[in-house]
Amino acid sequence: MMGSMRLRNFSAAGIALFLWMPGVTPAAAQTAPPSQAQMTSAQIVAQNRIEDAKFAAFVRDFRDTAVKAGISSETYDRSMRGISRNPRVELLNLNQPEFARPVWEYLDSAVSIDRVTNGQKMVAANAPALGRIEQRFSVPKEILVAIWGMESNYGEAMGGFNMFEALATLAYDGPRADFGRKELIAALKMEEQEHLDPTKMTSSWAGAFGHTQFIPSAFLAHAVDADGDGKRDLWHSAPDALASTASLLADAGWHPGDSWGYEIALPKDFPYEEADVDNVKTIAQWRKLGVTKIGGAELPRGEATAGIYLPAGAHGPAFLVFDNFKTVLKYNNAASYGLAVCYLADRIAGGAPIVASWPRDEVPLSRDERVAFQADLKKLGFDPGDLDGVLGHKGRAALRAYQKSRGLPPDGFATENLLEHMERDIVAKGG
Ligand code: CA
Repeated sequence: MMGSMRLRNFSAAGIALFLWMPGVTPAAAQTAPPSQAQMTSAQIVAQNRIEDAKFAAFVRDFRDTAVKAGISSETYDRSMRGISRNPRVELLNLNQPEFARPVWEYLDSAVSIDRVTNGQKMVAANAPALGRIEQRFSVPKEILVAIWGMESNYGEAMGGFNMFEALATLAYDGPRADFGRKELIAALKMEEQEHLDPTKMTSSWAGAFGHTQFIPSAFLAHAVDADGDGKRDLWHSAPDALASTASLLADAGWHPGDSWGYEIALPKDFPYEEADVDNVKTIAQWRKLGVTKIGGAELPRGEATAGIYLPAGAHGPAFLVFDNFKTVLKYNNAASYGLAVCYLADRIAGGAPIVASWPRDEVPLSRDERVAFQADLKKLGFDPGDLDGVLGHKGRAALRAYQKSRGLPPDGFATENLLEHMERDIVAKGG
């Protein structure tokens, strides 16, 4: 699956892969080789020749690996015949956005009015199939249709790359070689199992395919036939794709009948260091900390535990999230993707828009600023881990500690204001 992030899609059914989510940069793409713009034309020609030879050697050598994995040599040759390394795939594989897109902009497009309305039409148009899928897997139809909308805009954008060319390009070299190799074998298995024509197996640049953008290994593990023709066809059968998505979520531990979560309000004196998706507490404990539903109503009683997700820090909306929210993350491991799916599902079901306002005047940090941010934390004695421009778990923990030490709400959310705050502190320290 591929959330449609700033850079067309990359993700993978059931596997937490490479995400261009607000604040998350693909770890693999930290160091880019010199761009072709920096090379002379003779250097480009020479470099291309080397890469072509490397690719040809990979295709030749990988045949043994495939055969050892149980693929027939006929299947391999038929699928790999005539493919070449794909420069667009190479570019997308290395691309690293300069700016992380703010979550509110992401949600504006991911959960647009059009997408909500079209989702409602899709629920109506597929009602009998969705009814059977709900009965079989106990995953709500709105969640499935929301994933369909997020992944391919309801079948409109499923990706036009040759799957073998895309995966072989990832596999032969570069930051996703292991992923490419594993998925290439899975794609060959899928071709054999389903008797597919390899020239018709199209995918995104990252090998995700069909209505709900499965990757081949997820297909092998979870795909099902739902329209009763005996074939599992995620390209041409929306019911097969929706049921396979339900199958994946059920296998990942979906709790039938439970909510994913809902919007909440936090009191002024809320201890923001408690706000973390992974810091789960009982509803009673959250009530004790003054948490209410948005609008002030008491939290509904329940047995389940939940964490708090602040997509934009202390100055934006807050959500109480249960296990099912985390199950959606098995599809694409980025909290903002999970929120987009769950919020879209709510809106398709007729739910209200998010109430609290977003801090839309906040300027997203550039990559250089994120690195400066980490360097400043380090100078101030809060270890953020590697200075790589990625504010991960360790970076957020360091940031929370810094915020707490200065009497600021410790939400772990990096902003320009905070960067300035730290730089003033460093100057004051004489650093
Ligand atoms: Ca089918």
